[in-house]
Amino acid sequence: MLILPGWLIVASDTPPRQGWGLRVTASRVTDVGPADALIAAYPDEDQMNASESICLPGFVNTHVHLYGVLAHGIDVHQPPDGFASFLEEYWWPQIEDVLDQPMIEAATDWVCSEMLRSGTTTFFDILEAPHAIPDVLLVEKQIVEKRGLRGLLSFEATERAGAQIAQDGLRENVELISACDTDGLVSGLMSYHTTFTCSGEFIRQAFGLAADLGVLTHAHANESHFEAEWCQTTYGRSTFEYYDDLGVAGPEFLASQCVQLSEADRTIIADRGIRVSHMPLSNCEVGGGIAPISELLDAGVTLGLGSDGYINDFYEVMRGAFLLAKARRLDPGVMPATTVLNLATEGGARALGLAKVGRLDIGWSADLQLVDATFPTPLTEHNIFDQLVLWRSHRDVSDVMVAGRWRVRRGEVLDADLDQMRARTHEEANRLWSH
Ligand SMILES: [Zn+2]
Repeated sequence: MLILPGWLIVASDTPPRQGWGLRVTASRVTDVGPADALIAAYPDEDQMNASESICLPGFVNTHVHLYGVLAHGIDVHQPPDGFASFLEEYWWPQIEDVLDQPMIEAATDWVCSEMLRSGTTTFFDILEAPHAIPDVLLVEKQIVEKRGLRGLLSFEATERAGAQIAQDGLRENVELISACDTDGLVSGLMSYHTTFTCSGEFIRQAFGLAADLGVLTHAHANESHFEAEWCQTTYGRSTFEYYDDLGVAGPEFLASQCVQLSEADRTIIADRGIRVSHMPLSNCEVGGGIAPISELLDAGVTLGLGSDGYINDFYEVMRGAFLLAKARRLDPGVMPATTVLNLATEGGARALGLAKVGRLDIGWSADLQLVDATFPTPLTEHNIFDQLVLWRSHRDVSDVMVAGRWRVRRGEVLDADLDQMRARTHEEANRLWSH
């Protein structure tokens, strides 16, 4: 089919084109050009006219916790006064240790729909629910396949809940990865929690299993000062110096958060090619700080954006990345909208190791969104990235396609009974909250 929007954004590093469209065949973009030329070249193709819309790549959320939605608005028993107490007195006992499969099932279905509705077509989920294994990732896989997103799933193995559960967590990842078709939309990554919940031996085991399976390994790293200080006290070196000594610092490592980094940490991340996922909004939530993202980008680090399961509307996540970097550096010139959009699309796909995802060039996956192009001020080639990043939200997304299939049309998630899904999530949240 031909998709003929008012404006086409192929990628953040190419000029926006007014009156251009693209051709989609099966799951891929097969031509890009002026609408007239496309209609002349393919007169028999179905046409979707969207002259009041901007067509751009779908978002890539490089870090989400689907179950996180169940904690939205929860009454925290013991308000945390630091990062360690956030985990030890709230997040672990009140959320992660209580989660079971029906809760995760409901949250997965709801958040997949919520992400689709806000233009997200690809995500990486990290599930930490020590008492919900085995086979909880297979439950997630079925739901993600039904919703039709491109999903990378993982179970965050941790030794904090005991050696057996830790090993079961690694096995959960291995089994999911082995169960995924190479050409399917769902795949898996290896994942463990942090240096303060996993031993060096366990971390090496995780990386070893991932290497055998040919996948990346993910961990949370230095989300606040806590882990940096813990590594210094326990191992006499910084977190990434420790990782370097373990022999796991390399391009197979996807490190999320990376908020509080020493000079040595930044150098190791850049020199070893470690990939980074940046969560501007949730870093604020836990009092972690503001990550040195513009510095990491200047050093050539492969980087994507994530919601952390906190605020999943990717337009809000982009605004967080855009504004917080400027405030941190006291410089309105850092982190322009083009950079932010790159991180939200192609940059994120690269951070997750995905090929041909995140651009709308010929041969790339047809993962796209149509966004309302009617602004109160003129839309031009020079301001379109700012207009999108600063003044659009999920409410402006009308249509979303993943791998050549429409998943949202005219603002409605297809084949989804949102009222029923909301009621079910509500019920599961009540069960979690009453624990
Ligand atoms: Zn996280």
